[in-house]
Amino acid sequence: MWPSVIFIIIVGLILLDAWRRERRHRRQRFQERQEYTATMLRQQQQAFAEAQTRQQALFNSMVDGVLLLGSNGKIQLINQSLARLLSLSTDIRGQSIAEALRWPALADLVARVAVENQVLGSELEYPGTEPRCLEVNAACYVDPDGKQQGTILVFHDITRLKQLENTRREFVANVSHELRTPLSMIKGYVETLLEGARNDPDQATRFLQIIDKHADRLTYLIEDLLTISKLESGQIVMNAQRVNLREQGQRVVEDLRARAAEKHVTVENQLPPDLWALADADRLQQVLFNLVENAIKYGHRQQGRVVIDARELPEDKLQVWVQDDGPGVPPEARERVFERFFRVDKARSRETGGTGLGLAIVKHIVQAHGGKVWLESHLGQGSTFYFTLPKA
Ligand code: ADP
Repeated sequence: MWPSVIFIIIVGLILLDAWRRERRHRRQRFQERQEYTATMLRQQQQAFAEAQTRQQALFNSMVDGVLLLGSNGKIQLINQSLARLLSLSTDIRGQSIAEALRWPALADLVARVAVENQVLGSELEYPGTEPRCLEVNAACYVDPDGKQQGTILVFHDITRLKQLENTRREFVANVSHELRTPLSMIKGYVETLLEGARNDPDQATRFLQIIDKHADRLTYLIEDLLTISKLESGQIVMNAQRVNLREQGQRVVEDLRARAAEKHVTVENQLPPDLWALADADRLQQVLFNLVENAIKYGHRQQGRVVIDARELPEDKLQVWVQDDGPGVPPEARERVFERFFRVDKARSRETGGTGLGLAIVKHIVQAHGGKVWLESHLGQGSTFYFTLPKA
């Protein structure tokens, strides 16, 4: 009987060992599978994070703004250009357009894209603290089954382009208006002469003088327009040389002596003899001429006094100024007098043959020399126009 008991025990032990091994093996396999799954998951997560970083870097490197919306309409991605364009300081991911931007026109566009799949070339005004004009191209992106997954919007900033377009349009309108006035005067007087006024010598002379004055105005206007357009297109190259300020000022005083005498205005050249500027002599004379001519024209009506003076500034600069004792310029117009065609008193400017372009030309020339121009004025006491130039 013992041999069979021993045999059964041995078989039992063998079976127990086999079961234990199998269990250990299974546990090992289970652990291996778990580790494998965890590694795969980690690798996938890493790959996903890397892809996202790459995608974000790619979008951030774009000059245009990019906005990605999920199928639920929430913002998934916004690149740095767009955040800058819209002056956003907080992260708006996870919010809807209505919550994050208060921009109904964009919400309407997104609704349109959902129906039409693609909307190209929409121009939207962004009504933020710094209003912008943006061209938006928008399209839905779909999964392989054609199901809409969300919307991608690309924004191109056309604010500057629009501003330039408006400036050009305004400029053309202003030029047409400026040309029309003297032309219609000339035409009116010519017609009156043809209708019989020419037979009265006194009247004919007076009308011809008026025609002559308006023809002069047209000439000045066209000359100033040509100067402005050449300055803007860079056709006039500044030939910077060592020029003596006092000598340039003296030439202008001589050129305007008759005009000043006509109005009993004295022009004093107080420019120190030892100041030398690095400037284009002809253009510097044009700047001084326009400023002194204005000081005579708009200054004190009789017995006025105009002073031209200058001083040295730090950093190798010179400050030049032209001062009059006229009525001055009202505060709200002090910046605007340098705009093309801006006049404080339209009638007076036209009466004195002004084109409204003199100070715009001054500003252009001074800026082309790397300087700046400004005006200080006290109503009833006079104006002083300042500009800076590099020292030679
Ligand atoms: P304009 O041809 O009309 O003189 P400007 O560009 O030279 O054009 O000047 C623009 C406007 O600035 C003038 O129409 C005038 O109203 C004002 N202005 C210029 N200089 C003076 C000044 N010294 N005193 C008062 N107003 C001035």
